[in-house]
Amino acid sequence: MNKKGFFGNWGGAYIPEILFQTFQELNHEFEVCKKDSSFWQEYIDLMSTYSCRPTPLTHATNLSRYFGGAQIYIKREDLNHTGAHKANNVMGQGLLIKRMGKKRVIAETGAGQHGMATATMAAKFGFDCTIYMGEEDVLRQRPNVFWMEKMGATVIPVTDGSRTLKDAINEAFRDWVTNVDNTHYALGTVCGPHPFPEMVAWFQSIIGMEAHEQILKQHGRMPARVYACVGGGSNAIGVFKRFIEEPDVELIGVEAGGHGLETGEHAARLCGTGASPGVAQGYKTMFLQDDDGQMLNTHSVAAGLDYVGVSPILTDLWEQGRVRFEAATDKEVMAALDLTMKKEGLIPALESSHAFVQAFKEAPLLSGDDAIIINMSGRGDKDIFTIAHAFNDPSWKEFIIDRAREYSR
Ligand SMILES: *Cc1c(COP(=O)(O)O)cnc(C)c1O
Repeated sequence: MNKKGFFGNWGGAYIPEILFQTFQELNHEFEVCKKDSSFWQEYIDLMSTYSCRPTPLTHATNLSRYFGGAQIYIKREDLNHTGAHKANNVMGQGLLIKRMGKKRVIAETGAGQHGMATATMAAKFGFDCTIYMGEEDVLRQRPNVFWMEKMGATVIPVTDGSRTLKDAINEAFRDWVTNVDNTHYALGTVCGPHPFPEMVAWFQSIIGMEAHEQILKQHGRMPARVYACVGGGSNAIGVFKRFIEEPDVELIGVEAGGHGLETGEHAARLCGTGASPGVAQGYKTMFLQDDDGQMLNTHSVAAGLDYVGVSPILTDLWEQGRVRFEAATDKEVMAALDLTMKKEGLIPALESSHAFVQAFKEAPLLSGDDAIIINMSGRGDKDIFTIAHAFNDPSWKEFIIDRAREYSR
């Protein structure tokens, strides 16, 4: 990364003048923290007493036997508090906010997972908390909105544009511009203007640091391949970062193939042909956009992968050929999830199941001495409505109708 926050040709900080000083302050604070080993220790202590770090690396013996190839290991980010790797980022930023003496935190959220994690962090640290969420997403993700409000956060439905994630991001920036003095914007992934990509990657790198140590201990050597799903890219960079220095470890990012790349209904930015370079939301990357630079509508069964941009760090690693990108369709995702539940008793999130799809395609081609790691970014309980619907479970449908009747009495 060079001085202005670029990773190769990607990244940067395209910010309005009014935020200049805030970013300077944030950059300064982050630089100080990076050099201060006691800050990292404070972070580790917090994550091991409030979340569930180190998360285990599980040897999936049944799946390994089933595919008859590589030994499959699963990094269990689902065991974090709030059920996903997102806790790593928000708790880290919480410590940073405390140091900067700010009292209010805002965040954007699409599926509600980052909003949930931020509301949790705000409650724990005693910050005021406002979450921006597209009106469409508020309707779709009622359970998350319920919990955020119960934890004391204010959830503001955004009625602009397509009323989804990108509109929520714009609204959060608007709020920040007006309230810079007391407010920190806790961005949810490794995107946005510098220093966010680097900072979020730094906190998330704890995943790969643990996995590196665990695989050596449990398997005796480096894995052949590491798989992660890619929305904004934070769980992927988190698990990849420590392994980038290991030249023999192949890194594979799996994007949302949706209904199939040929349908245009997907969120495949780096493995498809639909994305082009652009600058939006404060940074430069490959965006799914039309010839006029208008963002395209994306689709995925996994709400957390449904995003038009992608981390500048990953775009750089893609350009260098260090990370290979693949896509998994909605249909493949349901099949991989089904198999993982039956064989291992694990329920990966729909997002994480994308990584499982690609790993399952490749595991049989490797030898039994090889190990592969799948990053299970989160747990699937949150997806029960979508999963039950996709499996077309008749008794679930009955249950929902019964509940609705009961409530309307
Ligand atoms: C939010 C989310 C993702 C996508 O975000 P990244 O920044 O790409 O990691 C993936 N998995 C789960 C479980 C999520 O909640």
